[in-house]
Amino acid sequence: MDQANILIIGGGIVGCAIAVELSRHWPDVFLLEQYPRLGMGTSTRNSGVIHSGIYYPRNSLKARHCLEGNRLSFEFCEKHNVAHRRTGKLVVAGDSAEEAALAALKNRGEANGVEGLRLIGPSEIRAREPHVAGVAALDVPSTGIVSAEELVRAYARIAVSQGANIVTHARVVSLAADKNSVRVGAHIGDMPGSQTEIASNQAARWDPQTDRSSETVANEVGEEEIEARCVINSAGLYADDIAALLGNRSWKIYPVRGEYCEVRGAKSSLINGLVYPLPHADGLSLGMHFTKTLWGTTLIGPTAKYVEGKENYERDRLPVSYFLPGARHLLPELDETSSTHRTWHSRLRYHPRSAGLERNSFSRNRIPRSHRSSVNSPPRARTSLRSPRLEFWCGGLLLTVF
Ligand SMILES: Cc1cc2nc3c(=O)[nH]c(=O)nc-3n(C[C@H](O)[C@H](O)[C@H](O)COP(=O)(O)OP(=O)(O)OC[C@H]3O[C@@H](n4cnc5c(N)ncnc54)[C@H](O)[C@@H]3O)c2cc1C
Repeated sequence: MDQANILIIGGGIVGCAIAVELSRHWPDVFLLEQYPRLGMGTSTRNSGVIHSGIYYPRNSLKARHCLEGNRLSFEFCEKHNVAHRRTGKLVVAGDSAEEAALAALKNRGEANGVEGLRLIGPSEIRAREPHVAGVAALDVPSTGIVSAEELVRAYARIAVSQGANIVTHARVVSLAADKNSVRVGAHIGDMPGSQTEIASNQAARWDPQTDRSSETVANEVGEEEIEARCVINSAGLYADDIAALLGNRSWKIYPVRGEYCEVRGAKSSLINGLVYPLPHADGLSLGMHFTKTLWGTTLIGPTAKYVEGKENYERDRLPVSYFLPGARHLLPELDETSSTHRTWHSRLRYHPRSAGLERNSFSRNRIPRSHRSSVNSPPRARTSLRSPRLEFWCGGLLLTVF
C-alpha cells in the first residue's frame, strides 16, 4: 500500500491551489482527480471573473477571502504568466428604481474594504461602455477576468515542481479512518478512452508539459489503496459524497446549472469589459451579466436553475431567445439576428446548503421543495490525524481562491 502525508481529493482550482501551498511545506502530498484532466469540473465551467468582494456580508469569511483572493490572484497571474485582464466592472442600474440598491451595494463593498468604488452617471457609463443603457452604475475597478484553464494548470505545475504527486483518472471510492491514518481506496482508469494512472512508485502522474498523465502503467485498471495521514476533501460538487464515505451524511449539495450564450462577430464589440445588473433578488446568482472574454467574444449569463444530477450539463438547454429579453435590458442593440450563439456547454453550479459557513447568505427557502431534507451540522470536510493538522471547510474555501 502506498503512503501519503497528505492526500487531496479533487483536482479543481481549490484542490490544485491547496496542493501548491501544502507541497511547499510537506513531502508526499498526493492529489487524486477522477477525470482524465484537471479542472474539468466547475473550475473551468465558469465566467472566469476575479471578483472584488462587494457582495458579501460584512466580516464574513467570503468577504475577507474574496478581497485577499482578488489581490493574490492578480499577483499570481502576473508572476506566472496566466492570461488575465484587469477590466474593472460596472454594476448598472437600468432605471432610477434601482439606484438605491446600487448605493447600498457601494456601502457594502466599502464596508468590506473594496477600494476605488464610485457611483457614476450616464455620460461616464457611455464613455466606458457606449452601448450599455443605464441611469447609474457602480464602478468596481478591482474586478478582472482570468483564463480558468491556465490558472488550474499553473497551480498544478507549481505543485508538481515542489514534489507533489498529481494523479488523474483516479476516483476515490472509499475512505476508512483509524486512529492515525485514513485508508483511501481509489478506482483507477475507469473512464473510457483515457489513460490509466496509479498512485504508486511506478505510477503515471500528471505531466505539466502535456496536461495529461504519462503512460507508464497504461491499461492497468483496478483498485488502489493509499494510507494517508491527512485527507482533504476538495471534491467540489461531490464533496458531500466524499464526506458520506466517512459517515457524514448531514449535508447535501443541490446542483444548480448556469447556462451561457455567446455573442461572436461584430456584436461582440458592443461590450468592452464586465457589465453586471444588480444581483438577482433570489440570491441564487449575481444576475445574467456580460463578460468580454479573453478570446474576444462576449458571454451572456449564467442563468441559474436547480437540476437533477451533478453531471447534467446538456439536458434541456435553453434557446438563445431566452437570454435576449434580459440582455436587452442593459444592451438594447442586441437582437435575434446578431451573431448570438449558444455557448459550447452549460455549467453546473455548486451550492452549499444552509448549513454552510455563511448561514445568513443562503436561505433554505431557495431550495426547491423536492430537494429539501433535514439540515444538521456544517460540512466539515476533512480528516486530520497526526500532524500536520489541517482543517478544511469545503463550502467556504470555494471563494478563497479567486
Ligand atoms: C456558472 C458558474 C459561474 C461561476 N463563475 C465564477 C467566476 O466568475 N469567478 C469565480 O471566482 N467563481 C465562479 N464560480 C465558482 C467557481 O467556479 C467554483 O467556486 C470553483 O470552480 C470550485 O472549484 P472546486 O475545485 O471546489 O470544484 P471543481 O472544479 O468541481 O473540482 C472538484 C474536482 O473534484 C473531482 N472529484 C470529485 N469527486 C471525486 C472523487 N471521488 N475522486 C477524485 N476526484 C473527485 C472532480 O472531478 C473535480 O475535478 C462559478 C460557478 C458557476 C457554476
